[in-house]
Amino acid sequence: MIKHTHDNKMKKRIVILPGDGIGAEVTAEGRKVLERIAEIFGHTFEFDNALIGHAAIEKTGSPLPDATLNKLKSCDAILFGAVGHPKYDNDPTLKVRPEQGLLKMRKELGLYANLRPIKLFDQLLGASSIKPEVLKGSDILFFRELTGDVYFGEKGRMNENNTAYDTMIYHRYEVERIAHKAFQAARTRRKKVTSVDKANVLESSRLWRETVNQVSREYTDVALEHQFVDAAAMKLIQNPRSFDVVVTGNLFGDILTDEASQIAGSMGMLASASVGDKVGLYEPIHGSAHDITGKGIANPLASILSAALLLDISFGMKEESNAVINAVEQTLAEGFRTVDIAEKDTPTEKVLNTHLMGQRVCGKIHQKETIHS
Ligand code: NAD
Repeated sequence: MIKHTHDNKMKKRIVILPGDGIGAEVTAEGRKVLERIAEIFGHTFEFDNALIGHAAIEKTGSPLPDATLNKLKSCDAILFGAVGHPKYDNDPTLKVRPEQGLLKMRKELGLYANLRPIKLFDQLLGASSIKPEVLKGSDILFFRELTGDVYFGEKGRMNENNTAYDTMIYHRYEVERIAHKAFQAARTRRKKVTSVDKANVLESSRLWRETVNQVSREYTDVALEHQFVDAAAMKLIQNPRSFDVVVTGNLFGDILTDEASQIAGSMGMLASASVGDKVGLYEPIHGSAHDITGKGIANPLASILSAALLLDISFGMKEESNAVINAVEQTLAEGFRTVDIAEKDTPTEKVLNTHLMGQRVCGKIHQKETIHS
């Protein structure tokens, strides 16, 4: 019999958005892990599924139906799979498209910060193209700003179409709110924030740096350093262990997070969160992977690690979140792999399908202070 020693039992509503392709296969495993956490820690999680992407277009004509949006606005957290279908990839002229659902959802929910943890599991050291001795122990949390920068500033053509421009623009409040998120996260980690900009050249970066410095005064227990983006790009590969929390703008974040994803080796392992002031959205960084859809071989670990992020960030359940991460670690340590992360010498009986990998991880989830009697 298991006795719960946890006093903070919580009741939460989670919407699952499977989306398209392998989205349904991997979120099913993410959900299973959340159910297991609820069972072990004594929480109550209510689940509700909703449509998005191509699946939603097929059924309702819209990539983000109002019924979905209403559910999202009234829940406590969202676990999302992926959207996308080859039909749209091969025909850019189609007017109603799955990714419109994703963009509208981010806008409607005010999700201004994208978090991407880059944590390398020791067991997968060999899967990266960077030397193991450089990588070992890397654990970085990126905060990429999502609503400003060159993506949203004024853009256009002039000079008879021979000149083009995009305006890099930031407002103080946009920098303030993401800087607060980064400092708050650093407090729960190794208490260091690296702010990345190009303040030696760009005025918007000078506002960025000035604002981050101001915000940092409220977090005197957290060390702050500034790096220029070119230097940061180099140091990320040269000495990834020197980073804890990194906060940066939309464009620099776009590039640096893809660079950093290589530290972790495989697409199927990386989770992300998009957060604002209300509900948080948690999703793997990979897409709908139609080449492997329905084969049961998709790696569910990115979705499972997204569920761990959800527990930590939206529900403040650090212990529960760590229990999931530890379970993933143990499963990998026992040599279990999905096809995408299997090595040449992985025995076939250790190569698991999506469902069995989810099951293995669930079986390894334990509450630290659980008393067995
Ligand atoms: P992808 O991430 O879907 O797949 C890239 C490669 O990685 C494929 O070979 C795939 O099989 C493999 N892969 C991805 N996830 C995996 C997993 N969990 N386990 C094992 N292997 C995995 O990227 P793509 O092929 O460029 O795009 C496919 C579709 O996904 C497109 O329609 C694209 O628009 C969409 N997409 C959606 C999102 C999103 O919803 N956030 C993100 C990226 C791409």
